[in-house]
Amino acid sequence: MKQFTTLLLAVLSHSVLATNAPKNIIMMVGDGMGPAYTTAYRMYADDPSTPEVEQTVFDRLLVGMASTHPDIVSGFVTDSAAGATALSTGVKSYNGAIGVDTNKKPVQTVLELAKIQGRKTGVAVTSQINHATPASFGSHNESRQNYDQIADSYFDDKTNGQFVLDVMLGGGWKYFIREDRNLVEQFKEAGYQYVDKLSQLSTVSTGTPLLGLFADSGMPWALDSSNQRRLPTLTKAAIRQLENDQGYFLLIEASQVDWAGHSNDIGSAMAEMHDLALTLEWLEQYINENPDTLMVLTADHSTGGLTIGAKGNYSWKPQWLKNLKASPAEIGKQLITVKNKGALASNLLGFELTQEEIASLNVIESDELKPYHKAISKILDGRSDTGWTTSGHTGVDVQIFAKGMGSERFTGHLDNTEIAQTVFELLRDKK
Ligand code: MG
Ligand code: ZN
Repeated sequence: MKQFTTLLLAVLSHSVLATNAPKNIIMMVGDGMGPAYTTAYRMYADDPSTPEVEQTVFDRLLVGMASTHPDIVSGFVTDSAAGATALSTGVKSYNGAIGVDTNKKPVQTVLELAKIQGRKTGVAVTSQINHATPASFGSHNESRQNYDQIADSYFDDKTNGQFVLDVMLGGGWKYFIREDRNLVEQFKEAGYQYVDKLSQLSTVSTGTPLLGLFADSGMPWALDSSNQRRLPTLTKAAIRQLENDQGYFLLIEASQVDWAGHSNDIGSAMAEMHDLALTLEWLEQYINENPDTLMVLTADHSTGGLTIGAKGNYSWKPQWLKNLKASPAEIGKQLITVKNKGALASNLLGFELTQEEIASLNVIESDELKPYHKAISKILDGRSDTGWTTSGHTGVDVQIFAKGMGSERFTGHLDNTEIAQTVFELLRDKK
């Protein structure tokens, strides 16, 4: 009887899956976005005129937690390459690996399987499009540092005789327009539309292959962007190009949460989280209208050891982060040459600096950006009571957020490789 029940369940669950497999799959990565980031964002986004702390879109979509460790050859703390490779292939690898296993052998990615099945495929990211996370979905390389090789592979490597990516949106001029090779021209000759301004995305003809590069390498920080919704803009444009009867697979990455974490820059971290939250809110609506779509978001790891509350103060004051007129990096850049540092910083931070804070800028004797960026971030840490433990990654589990068809398969604790394995199953069930 028990065997029969198991068999029956297996048959039933398979038939259920076969009908409930999504047509479109949107995988999302908040690079470096550990749990402290979504909690901090809830407080940052809180409406101070109400007594409760309002739920965010992250809270609404939370379904599980994921472990992130790489293959044991790299210990317990992952980098973005091994993290994304786990999420794209279902295989643990070494830090630095792009879509290859520990023997440096290429492993099929979920994006490639989607392509082989006849789906359209794309990446929409705020880093350069050949950076570790998108590269691990659309390329294979023994090292994330081989940027030119990875860019070349997007043109040279074919899946079933086709380009692996129909849509590529993000940064990367310096890797795609080089002295030795102009990949932009090659993609144009091969029939891709090319745009280099976000505003042009609304004018491209839909349904055609598209290459959009908007910066030399990573895109400007959200705080410095003229388009205040840069990731939602990329996301909507990518989906408009990808929608078709056979379905699509899209990777979206909020790449720069991680970069803010590495710089211990809470101001930029919250702005990058806001850009991602706006993207998620739009996708929430999109999935309501397109219930045959699955969205699953996770982080590859956490970055910076962000702590909400520092110095034993039992407080966190995000209000100091809400009037920034530029990123701390941009403020730092402007401080290098200006004489009255206090006035400039007060203006761009949106509050009057104390004598002590001004002194922390005036003591810097450097013509480099880094010490200024650091000093401005430190001022924001001091005001907001934000703590950090490292300039690198940490090994804590990260959350899984999901909505749409198949989203119930990502609940509870999963290893990051199981997220990919489940996406593989959902892809196979559809066909
Ligand atoms: Mg990344
Ligand atoms: Zn990182």
